[in-house]
Amino acid sequence: MRILVSLLTAVLLLSPIGADAQDSRAALETVAKALGATGLKSIEIQGGGTFFWAGQSYNAGTAWPQFNVRSLTRTVNYDTASLREEMVRTRTLEPPKGGGPYVRGENKAVAFLSGDHAWNVAGEAVTPAPIALAERQFLLWSTPHGVVKAAMAGKGTLQGRTITFGVPGSFKAMATLDAANLVERVDATVANPVLGDMAVTVSYADYRDFGGVKFPTKIRQTVGGLPALELTVTEVKPNAAADIPVPDGVRQAGNPYVKVTTQKAADGVWYLTGGSHHSVVIEMKDHLIVVEGPLNDDRALAVIKEARALVPNKPIKYLVVSHHHFDHSGGVRAFAGEGATLITHDASRQYFERIVAAPATVSPDHLAKSGKKAAVEGVRDRRVLTDGTRSVEIRQIAGIQHADDMLMVYLPKEKLLIEADAYTPPAPNTAAMSPPSPFNVSLAENVKNQGLAVDQILPLHGRIVPAAELYKAAGVTP
Ligand SMILES: [Zn+2]
Repeated sequence: MRILVSLLTAVLLLSPIGADAQDSRAALETVAKALGATGLKSIEIQGGGTFFWAGQSYNAGTAWPQFNVRSLTRTVNYDTASLREEMVRTRTLEPPKGGGPYVRGENKAVAFLSGDHAWNVAGEAVTPAPIALAERQFLLWSTPHGVVKAAMAGKGTLQGRTITFGVPGSFKAMATLDAANLVERVDATVANPVLGDMAVTVSYADYRDFGGVKFPTKIRQTVGGLPALELTVTEVKPNAAADIPVPDGVRQAGNPYVKVTTQKAADGVWYLTGGSHHSVVIEMKDHLIVVEGPLNDDRALAVIKEARALVPNKPIKYLVVSHHHFDHSGGVRAFAGEGATLITHDASRQYFERIVAAPATVSPDHLAKSGKKAAVEGVRDRRVLTDGTRSVEIRQIAGIQHADDMLMVYLPKEKLLIEADAYTPPAPNTAAMSPPSPFNVSLAENVKNQGLAVDQILPLHGRIVPAAELYKAAGVTP
């Protein structure tokens, strides 16, 4: 017996695949069998519940705004690493509080992933969305069958009741199995432009059998420690049709965030567009002020490069942040990495101090690589930056329900106003919202009551318009 044991030990030690790997493989196969993952190529689930829009809270660091999910259909193809998720939702609060697109009634959003491509479809419009790649890769591989398939494909390992898996540059995760070998929880760190390493958890409960495939009927997700999704799954179709081709326009799009189109708005004032979110560069005597660092590192670094090309030899001293929403502050870390001082509303000053000190280990960004520490300065009602020739007035948009830290920038000499999300000019020849958007009304009343003489608005979405268009949209008499 002893001889046999030592022989076996010797064989295992000499075997090209380690004993651990073999055990892990066998254990993973047991988990795959328990879940019914072995012959599963694709899956479609349907359900409803509550969605909370991460990155769009009213106060920085508090609950994400809530939406009712009328229907959700998520189709995952594990063979092609692709995913389609359609959500029809309504806002829980009307009038709205917090961000996310403001649409009255139902809003349908369709999100796609295939390999390294992420995109959105709204009506006929297809929009590449590489910014969503990490979170969608996590969504795909954190599904119960995704976890075991990722691990079996060599992207993870099983030890005890824990499967460690991930996609380099996007996320690192740990899944916990219950006594029946079903995935009950996933704890992850997902790369995020604002938070750096962002904590995401998913919990799965009340598994049921759908034609030999086990799937949870309760899914709860948190993002940054706050509820993000509470879903009741009503239908599961194993091996549903799941052909999710990448549209040509998405395949050929390249990086949409690096395209910068510059328009001069006044002497020493430039409006930088080219994508979905804009910035403004203002030249002072011995430095530059940039209003808004949106989206992500790629966008912020392209804006910084353009600012340097417009005005060589003057440093970017300040970045003014319109508000804390993820899409408007995804470039904050890159500007901090360039040594710029951030100016935010007092309400979110401490939040941004934490943001620029946060680690980004999953996908080290410009700030993490720079090793720089950034200063953050707060504004309450108003702060004037001046160099004796030009005045830049940073003012609060008081009382607006989009966010509690909304700042606008007013140039009194040039009669220009820069603002984000309070008013986005609609495409020409589209009907105005009726009754008007409460955000438009807040902005118009702030401009009027603060006594600002504005000729042109430089919105951080959309295009330059006369101030009269804001007053008309808001139904406010100037
Ligand atoms: Zn916003």
